[in-house]
Amino acid sequence: MYLVLLGPPGAGKGTQAQVVSKELNLVHVSSGDIFRENLKNMTELGKVAQGYMERGELVPDEVTIAMIRDRLSRPDCAQGALLDGFPRTPAQAEELDRMLAELGDRVVLVPYISVPSQILVERLSGRWTCRAQGHIYHQMYNPPKQAGVCDLDGSELYQREDDKPETVKRRIEVYLEQTSPLIEYYRGKGLLVELDGTQPIEDVTETLLVEIRKVM
Ligand code: ADP
Ligand code: AMP
Repeated sequence: MYLVLLGPPGAGKGTQAQVVSKELNLVHVSSGDIFRENLKNMTELGKVAQGYMERGELVPDEVTIAMIRDRLSRPDCAQGALLDGFPRTPAQAEELDRMLAELGDRVVLVPYISVPSQILVERLSGRWTCRAQGHIYHQMYNPPKQAGVCDLDGSELYQREDDKPETVKRRIEVYLEQTSPLIEYYRGKGLLVELDGTQPIEDVTETLLVEIRKVM
C-alpha cells in the first residue's frame, strides 16, 4: 500500500507521517530526511543536494528520482510506504507511477493536507527538529517536555537552516509553482482526499487514519 502525503512545507506531513506510520506499521519515507542524512554524512548525494536545499529550491528531478528508486527497492518497502515530500513535481509523480507499476503496485491514496500560506511561516519558524531521528516539535503547538530536548530519544533539538523566513518564502513559492499542480494530477486519478491542516494535530491524525483505513 503506497500513500503520498501532499501539502505545502509546514502543512504537517512529517508530523502526521511519524504517528500514522507507527499506528499502521507502514514505512515512512521522507525525501527531506534522506537528503538531510546525506548532507550530515557529506555523501556525494548530500554534496549535490546541499546548495538547492539551502536556497529552498528543489533538488533536480534526476537526482531525486534515483534516490527514491533506490529507497523503494529496499526490502522494507516491499509491502508499501508512506511517502512524505515525494513526489514534488509532475515528472516525479509520473516516474513514481512507472516505478510502482514495475513492482505490480500503485499509489492508493493521496491525502492532501491543506494549510493557507500565511500560517506556514509561523509553523516553520517555530519548528524544532530532533538531531538523531528527525522527530518534529513546535515551540507553541507541540512543545517538547523539556525545551531543546527530544521527548522520544533525548537528542538535541535544532532549528533547520531552511526554516528562516527568507528561505521559507522561497520554499512556498517553489511549492506553488512546481508542486501544487500535483493536486489536480491526483484529483484526476480519483486518489485525492483533502484534509483541513489548520485543525489541531490530533484531529488531523484522526481524520487521516479514517481515510486511510477506508482504502486498506
Ligand atoms: P511538513 O512536514 O509538512 O513540512 P511538519 O510536520 O514538519 O510539516 O510541521 C511543521 C511545523 O508545524 C512543526 O513545527 C509542527 O510541530 C507544526 N504542526 C504540524 N501540524 C500542526 C497542526 N495541525 N497545528 C499546529 N502546528 C502543527
Ligand atoms: P522537506 O524536509 O520535505 O521540507 O525537504 C527539504 C528540502 O529537501 C527541500 O526544500 C528540497 O530542497 C529537498 N527535497 C525534498 N524532497 C524533494 C523532492 N521530492 N524533490 C526535490 N527536492 C526535494
